[in-house]
Amino acid sequence: MTAKKKLSEKVLILGAGLTGLSAAYKLKTLGFKNVLVLEKEKRPGGLLKTDRKEGGAIDQLPHVFFSKDKTVKSFFLKMVGKVYRHSHKLGVLWKNGYIDYPFQNNIHQLEIEERKKILKGLFERKPLKNLKAGNFEDFAVKTFGNELTELFFRPYNEKLWLTPLKKMDYKWLASKIKMQEPSELVESVLGAENKKDKAVAPHAEFIYPKKGGIQTLIDGLIAEVGADKIKLDINITRIDSKKKTVFAGKEIFHYDKIISTLPLNEAVKLSGMKKNGSALKRLKATKVFCVQYVLKKINLPRYHWIYVPGKKFPFYRLTREELINPKAFKNKKVLLVECAMGKSDFPNEKTFIKEITSHLEKLNILKRKDIERMWHSDHFPAYPVPHLKGEKDISFCLNELLKRGIISAGRSGEWFIKNMDHSILAGFKAAGEILKR
Ligand SMILES: Cc1cc2nc3c(=O)[nH]c(=O)nc-3n(C[C@H](O)[C@H](O)[C@H](O)COP(=O)(O)OP(=O)(O)OC[C@H]3O[C@@H](n4cnc5c(N)ncnc54)[C@H](O)[C@@H]3O)c2cc1C
Repeated sequence: MTAKKKLSEKVLILGAGLTGLSAAYKLKTLGFKNVLVLEKEKRPGGLLKTDRKEGGAIDQLPHVFFSKDKTVKSFFLKMVGKVYRHSHKLGVLWKNGYIDYPFQNNIHQLEIEERKKILKGLFERKPLKNLKAGNFEDFAVKTFGNELTELFFRPYNEKLWLTPLKKMDYKWLASKIKMQEPSELVESVLGAENKKDKAVAPHAEFIYPKKGGIQTLIDGLIAEVGADKIKLDINITRIDSKKKTVFAGKEIFHYDKIISTLPLNEAVKLSGMKKNGSALKRLKATKVFCVQYVLKKINLPRYHWIYVPGKKFPFYRLTREELINPKAFKNKKVLLVECAMGKSDFPNEKTFIKEITSHLEKLNILKRKDIERMWHSDHFPAYPVPHLKGEKDISFCLNELLKRGIISAGRSGEWFIKNMDHSILAGFKAAGEILKR
């Protein structure tokens, strides 16, 4: 095929989240003229939506940008313009008080009896070199010892993932958590004057758009791609890869090449694959229900966000949005409260929000009389659960789709916990694949 003919091929992109729009952007820069993005919702952005009400800009889910990849970072800056720059300060809600995060680096902030137990667990660990673990639980115990696992890693992660650690893979986490060397453990238990905690988390230094919330990234992409290249309110119901046709109810779209950023299991089902074995059943994800509070006053330490382990409270994280984005809502305090739930959990919203608010009151974080505004939203799939047979199942599904000419990309498209930088790269990569094919 001549280069000219290739660039005039019709490329469909399913889903107008960050991955889909990054793919559309890349295709445009490669010279493709005939690209169309289809999105089921009435607004683009996927997980990156900001509510711009009454002069405010409050993200529906808390998002901050960080990346080790310089190219992606400058791409982000090009899309969003001016940014706030922050060095993270994070906490953990601990026995109705707070300790600094990472938990494992701040053991000295715990009570003496807890410190003793943790030390014992750490001494009992095997050497970390060449650590091989069977599952998340095994990984946590081998890395941090039994006590730290039971105090923090299990109660936090089982709440976030709604899955027993024993049934989860850990490799996604191994790259995010730095193994602690003995010298660091001594500092953690005894406390140190010049702790270098910041190096341990990938989001230690993060940036955030000065205008418009995180959705500014989506706005920037749309300005580049062209709003006319995105068709909203199109819920894809079938993909016929033989006839190269996508159906959305009565609407039909033909294509030469296709990228899907839909949840992997959904794309497999929509493309009519019969022999998918149990792989699809094992692909589970959580839903996130997020409440946005605008407050006159808040009583929380100046942490950007706070992790909340354990079953006592329904939320797993509290974010002080106004510390990330001072213009989130007219100099007010803005608290985002995230709760994890299963796909088919539909709590009575009013009762659930009441429950969340009364927990926040009991924790003395807010007073009901100080709540000025309150909104909420839910998002599915939010966290694709890394299960033990995940790698095999995911590559099976991706390959089956590829055999049908469908390139699946993105956070739920590849069923992997991708941050924004990874999703941008996934979109770019998918566009590159289109050029090769
Ligand atoms: C709670 C939470 C917090 C996060 N915080 C951060 C953070 O601080 N920093 C960071 O870097 N990353 C963060 N992320 C990750 C970031 O949100 C993702 O990397 C990114 O948004 C994924 O983009 P995507 O396009 O792959 O997926 P999505 O945003 O899910 O986009 C998929 C799109 O496909 C559409 N779609 C689905 N089914 C159909 C259908 N049948 N027909 C048509 N369209 C369909 C959806 O409506 C959606 O718009 C966070 C994620 C979550 C869940």
